[in-house]
Amino acid sequence: MNSNSHYKIILKNARKANARLVAVSKTKPVEAILKLYEEGQRLFGENRVQEILKKQDLLPKDIEWHMIGHLQRNKVKYIAPFVAMIHGVDQAKLLQEINKQAARNNRVIDCLLQVHIAKEDTKFGFSDSELIDYLDSGSWKAFQNIRICGLMGMATNTDNEDQIRSEFNSLYKLFQCLKQKYFKSDQAFSERSMGMSGDYKIALESGSTLIRIGSAIFGARN
Ligand SMILES: *Cc1c(COP(=O)(O)O)cnc(C)c1O
Repeated sequence: MNSNSHYKIILKNARKANARLVAVSKTKPVEAILKLYEEGQRLFGENRVQEILKKQDLLPKDIEWHMIGHLQRNKVKYIAPFVAMIHGVDQAKLLQEINKQAARNNRVIDCLLQVHIAKEDTKFGFSDSELIDYLDSGSWKAFQNIRICGLMGMATNTDNEDQIRSEFNSLYKLFQCLKQKYFKSDQAFSERSMGMSGDYKIALESGSTLIRIGSAIFGARN
């Protein structure tokens, strides 16, 4: 099977579950992105500021660019003019900086709060209790130029499907709890970004609304 048919299968699976597909094009050339663009794909994800800037400049302007990786505060200013959504907001100070840079660009930037759900300490994100403390503080309510659209999480890199499922379920439960407590009348708070090439089917079964797929579409990265 070629990568194009993988793309179509994943897209179909996402649609069946009412989720959107973020095609993760990191390390891949603009030609590969254009090929998918011609298939109708408009939503692409990158995890490096340098790379997203270069690609955004070269590619059609109706592409919706999502920043999916860890983002340093001092680099927010470069992507603020065009980025559609930032998935990995893992610190209060980062959200504050996104708000500031979005304001400078007269924009509202969609953000997802990253939650640490994996049993690995290498991944970024708030713990459940840190996130609840932060939301309790209410300081985020003053931000006029960001929209908190939901949560993002990465499961442990393991073959244990029960563990992956339980991690995704914990993100889903936290989402529901936060929705009820802080975002009840806020339509925007609706996204669960979870699932990558190896675990996206479990993520879709666990209530993902945004799957982030790289290698299963574009082939392995170097
Ligand atoms: C690279 C990356 C992905 C995609 O990973 P694949 O396993 O290639 O699908 C998803 N999410 C994040 C945050 C990534 O950095």
